[in-house]
Amino acid sequence: MKLTLQTLWEEGAESLRRSGIGEAELDAKYLLFEAFQTDMVHFLMHRNEEVKDEDSVKRAVADYRRMIEKRSERIPLQQITGSREFMGLEFSVNEHVLIPRQDTETLVEQVLKDFQGKNPEVLDLCTGSGCIGISLSILGGWQEVTLADISLKALLVAKKNAEDLMTAKLHPIRLSSEGQEESPWRWRLTSELPGLEDKTAGVQNITLVESDLFSSLSGDGKQKFDVIVSNPPYIPTNVIEELEPEVRDHEPRLALDGMEDGLYFYRRLAEECGSYLKPGGTVYFEIGYDQGQAVSGLLREAGFQNVLVYQDAPGLDRVVKGTAAS
Ligand code: GLN
Repeated sequence: MKLTLQTLWEEGAESLRRSGIGEAELDAKYLLFEAFQTDMVHFLMHRNEEVKDEDSVKRAVADYRRMIEKRSERIPLQQITGSREFMGLEFSVNEHVLIPRQDTETLVEQVLKDFQGKNPEVLDLCTGSGCIGISLSILGGWQEVTLADISLKALLVAKKNAEDLMTAKLHPIRLSSEGQEESPWRWRLTSELPGLEDKTAGVQNITLVESDLFSSLSGDGKQKFDVIVSNPPYIPTNVIEELEPEVRDHEPRLALDGMEDGLYFYRRLAEECGSYLKPGGTVYFEIGYDQGQAVSGLLREAGFQNVLVYQDAPGLDRVVKGTAAS
């Protein structure tokens, strides 16, 4: 039988179906496009032609089959291709970060809408791939965004994403490094639009800091933000076992596990955020679909006002916002 893109696609889709993958045809097609560095148009035009007997093509076929094999082991598609689109930007991902979800765009869109035309200082806690903070920096054009995570491996992904996506001239400064126990890993990336009269106008800073929530942010109350955003781990521990194998076995537990009732991090956030917000500052948390009431309650108890719950595109509760007293 001659080997064509069509037969390769069918062969891959069949293996994925046998492994119980819901979107077997679609996933096989994405992997085929990835291995052959091609797209739908090329596929539709050439799918029945015999693939060439050349080394580069043989390598692509071998890569494709290896990727199908991995996907059959329920490794998430995005961990195999190494990237995921979020807010129209291409984020690199690996097994150390949660793959950005479309649901999370609800949070980013709400913050962008509320602060349109302003220049808030933003802190993104539990940043993971950096998808929330980096898209706010880029799409809002905001000048001071801090990304914090307890995981250094996640921060390295966030740093790569910030470097790849900040298009202007970059000046990275290492503020401290790994292995220095007394000072956490900290980097500051400054991007500068060239040729602007007002030197401060085009400058954007993204600071990355290794921190267990606020632990490495200055505790003296000097460092305060207009906006604190977070998509913390919020799945109750016993629910994790019920998730799809892609999530349960291959995404970082550290990014998912919200302890007994899933609310552990919201309790800590509600308690601690106030000390790091400017008067009238705002918090935005992503939440699980059934956590709207509980998290709103925690924010109100902690003295936040105008607490609101927003829904995602499918209509499920997804974001809670609260405002500190001014
Ligand atoms: N929304 C993610 C999921 O359903 C969980 C994200 C989180 O815990 N922050 O897998």
